[in-house]
Amino acid sequence: MIPEFKNEVYLDFSLPENRKKQEDAIAKLQSEIGKEYPSVIGQEQVMLDAKLKSYNPANKDEVVAVFQKAGADLADKAIQAADEAFASWKHTSADKRADYAFKAAELMRQRRFDFNAAMVLEEGKNWLEADADTAEAIDFLEFYGREAIRYAKMNPVTKVPGEDNEVRYIPLGVGVVIPPWNFPNAIMAGMTSAAWIFGNTVVLKPSSDAPLVAAKFFELLQEIGLPPGVVNFVPGSGATFGAELIKHPKCRFIAFTGSMAVGLEINVEAAKLAKGQIWIKRVILEMGGKDTMIIDDNYDLDEAVDGVLAAAFGFQGQKCSACSRVILLDSIHDEFVKKLIPKVESIKVGDPADPNNYMGPVINKAAEEMTLRYIEAAKKDGNKLLCGGEKAAGPGYFIKPTVFDDVKPDDTISQEEIFGPVLAVLTAKDFVEALKIANNTIYGLTGAVYSNSRGNLERARREFHVGNLYFNRKCTGALVGGHPFGGFNMSGTDSKAGGQDYFLLFTQAKCISEKIK
Ligand code: NAD
Repeated sequence: MIPEFKNEVYLDFSLPENRKKQEDAIAKLQSEIGKEYPSVIGQEQVMLDAKLKSYNPANKDEVVAVFQKAGADLADKAIQAADEAFASWKHTSADKRADYAFKAAELMRQRRFDFNAAMVLEEGKNWLEADADTAEAIDFLEFYGREAIRYAKMNPVTKVPGEDNEVRYIPLGVGVVIPPWNFPNAIMAGMTSAAWIFGNTVVLKPSSDAPLVAAKFFELLQEIGLPPGVVNFVPGSGATFGAELIKHPKCRFIAFTGSMAVGLEINVEAAKLAKGQIWIKRVILEMGGKDTMIIDDNYDLDEAVDGVLAAAFGFQGQKCSACSRVILLDSIHDEFVKKLIPKVESIKVGDPADPNNYMGPVINKAAEEMTLRYIEAAKKDGNKLLCGGEKAAGPGYFIKPTVFDDVKPDDTISQEEIFGPVLAVLTAKDFVEALKIANNTIYGLTGAVYSNSRGNLERARREFHVGNLYFNRKCTGALVGGHPFGGFNMSGTDSKAGGQDYFLLFTQAKCISEKIK
């Protein structure tokens, strides 16, 4: 009997034994620094002349691990391996596939501190953020395992007299999975696993900023005995190797999470018919956000400040769901800002290997430059710098948590995704205007409202146009099962990862009717 799905509980790092285990795991990984990992295609370990290095953003010259850098020429081999594995994997029963999923979840639980350590060193996540990421990856495995079994039992047809009718959900084929770096465990493992747990096979091309976490996940799949070729682990550049995978005639679907620009490019490429292709490629795209929190004039301001603080600066603002705009009703503006700024200024920025640091670095040089460019754009637009606005000291890509006030709805930092620790403060004369501003971007991913007015909450329920809307809590931290995740408009195809509809995207329904004699 499989127990009911429950979200994984986060580790309590105030307990000395957990602190010790996390410290030890970080030290162990540091002792292996620079280790080289092969790519794996089918049964074969592939070593290449071209290498891809992953760096520690908190210590930018430190090479965390070394990988093989696949070029476009390896795409055919990887897809063929997945295609061969599909021939038998597609017939594996749902129970068996779910069993692999539960084994993978259990092994990840046992290696929780190691996965966390990889994210601390490779992505600059603090301990709590890294652990939440691992917990979510475990949740995806547990949830999707149960979903495979549930879908196998579903038969959504109306009874027709004289016929025995059945709808069966069958897998699609070879999927190309292209994750981002920012949830290197949860999103990578979630998209990959939704695909294989439902009977598809996968070429996993991890982000070049996060191959180590993906390599550790892949090792885990090998250890649980997942047949070779069901998941193929092949790092490489997105623009060359990733793009070639997408063009392949045997690629049946693409599961992508990343920026709007790349997502839209993939959408165009996937629509082109390759020679020998016999299907329309399915595209699952989860893209960027410009997420807004509205603070009404009747709510506890201390609680709202803490919510905004966590949503804006958790993981340096590098979440698709991060609060990058807060809209305050005029009457509370001064008091809110007065409470917010000292808290922002007290955030400790530094190497997240030290658990006393709340904010680590941004992921790489390009992210640092981009964030600093947005800070300059805000100044040019006449936004008022309240705190931060510059690099912080240290050997990594550290940026001080930054808040701009007097931001107007159409200003650059009110419209474009920054993906860094920069918060824009806007004001509205009333709740109706606040909602109007909240809806004024091309995105529609997450949003939150703090309000004690039932009328205002109900209005937001109807009119705040985002895929994930939260009331009286922050706009980050979606939980598998409870908060199916995905956005509207340019935030993507609203796939609702971690929800009961997600599997439909990875399957096709076959209807079989038999006349009863
Ligand atoms: P990115 O678009 O730069 O890269 C994402 C992936 O695409 C990487 O693996 C990259 O190698 C690959 N890639 C790049 N060019 C490609 C191409 N031409 N063809 C195929 N693959 C290609 O995004 P990122 O910097 O890794 O992640 C940050 C972005 O992801 C942000 O915009 C963020 O909002 C978004 N994101 C969205 C969600 C969501 O659920 N909506 C979740 C997390 C992150």
